[in-house]
Amino acid sequence: MTIKRIDHIAIVVPDIEQAQSFYEGALGMKVAHLERVEDQQVIVAFLPAGESEIELVEPLEESSGVARYLTKRGPGIHHIALEVDDLTAMLARLKAQNVRLINEEPTIGSGGKKIAFIHPESTFGVLVELYESTPEESTLRAGALDDLRARLSLGGRAASAAFSGFVRSLRESRSHEVSDKEAIPLPSEDHIP
Ligand code: ZN
Repeated sequence: MTIKRIDHIAIVVPDIEQAQSFYEGALGMKVAHLERVEDQQVIVAFLPAGESEIELVEPLEESSGVARYLTKRGPGIHHIALEVDDLTAMLARLKAQNVRLINEEPTIGSGGKKIAFIHPESTFGVLVELYESTPEESTLRAGALDDLRARLSLGGRAASAAFSGFVRSLRESRSHEVSDKEAIPLPSEDHIP
């Protein structure tokens, strides 16, 4: 089994629109995926960076684990996700080496996404997500991407207005506006030493 690449680096932010204006406006990156993850009470935005992505995470409810993390530590890196070719085999290997795992078994996201978190205590202070891609996921993601492109295909100022409108609709919605295939169980600060 091997580590294939860094899939994403997740950054907790208080306001995803402000963060987006920096990452898009100043750095010239583009949001390729945006959605509300109900389970975690967060809005997430993914911005591709070559083979990897930056994930921006805005907590919605004060009581959520991610909100408490933000309050306690301020904005910053929340976790790093590594793509592995065989998650089950990797977890078995880590267990054999007494590595402290948050998920002993792969967690299956609603889109078929297989992930598991390693406790920061074992990784020298960084929450590490292991992720194995599945065929179903790329199909689901492509569908959601088309949807976002349709919403943001306006360009320039109109696009940022569309982004703001979309973010507002996600903040206000109680249901899955786009899809829930990125239902990542973001650990709370309880998992951070
Ligand atoms: Zn992640």
